[in-house]
Amino acid sequence: LIVLDGVNKWFGPLHVLDDVSLSVGRGEVVVVIGPSGSGKSTLCRTINRLEPINSGTITFDGTPLPAEGKALAKLRSEVGMVFQSFNLFAHKTILENVTLGPVKVRREKPAAARERGLALLDRVGIANQADKYPAQLSGGQQQRAAIARALAMQPKAMLFDEPTSALDPEMVGEVLEVMTSLARDGMTMVVVTHEMGFARHAANRVVFMADGQLVEEAPPTEFFANPRSERAKDFLSKIL
Ligand code: ATP
Ligand code: MG
Repeated sequence: LIVLDGVNKWFGPLHVLDDVSLSVGRGEVVVVIGPSGSGKSTLCRTINRLEPINSGTITFDGTPLPAEGKALAKLRSEVGMVFQSFNLFAHKTILENVTLGPVKVRREKPAAARERGLALLDRVGIANQADKYPAQLSGGQQQRAAIARALAMQPKAMLFDEPTSALDPEMVGEVLEVMTSLARDGMTMVVVTHEMGFARHAANRVVFMADGQLVEEAPPTEFFANPRSERAKDFLSKIL
């Protein structure tokens, strides 16, 4: 579904993505790990073209990423993204946050969008928060709302960039649970996270990045038991 081939990206002199090739099949869950500054967020952001690349190719669902216009808007709706900071619209209710995209971008009827929105809020366990404003919710509830909002666009894939890093520890589990259930339901997912439990249980593959390079990729059991590169061994020894 997602194919990166020989992707390079520079920020000025800094080579943030160094000949990265990666393919993510339909229904596959890929967890990306690596030290701070290794290019994980940048990798995620290139996939829905929040960041343009300097060379190489990225295709989504068989088509090269569009640079602009309607095709780009379509791509963005097909690739949902959830960030560390929840990025909800502060002056809209939780339900409005979830229905806005479908009504404005997908031109769904408000009543239909509302019904689907409520079902999505139910799915992430916060149907009873529908009429509240983001600030009235806990961090975990806000992040689940952000996931529901992304799902409302009926994406073909979901990107998560450290979705639990800003949460108080007791709320991490509820968000990972929602992500695990999405994974079980067959959603294609690219997840940057430091939650190695999630990587072990939900990932089909773990990708290890360092200095902009994709150093190693393997199924989680293999990767955690037997990291091949020195850099991966060193990284794991620090976080496990
Ligand atoms: P972290 O674990 O801290 O989130 P990361 O692996 O997500 O790190 P990136 O955010 O992708 O790393 O950043 C990779 C490198 O690119 C870093 O050195 C960062 O400082 C640099 N960088 C990121 N965004 C920009 C930007 N807009 N302009 C210039 N440099 C940037
Ligand atoms: Mg990052």
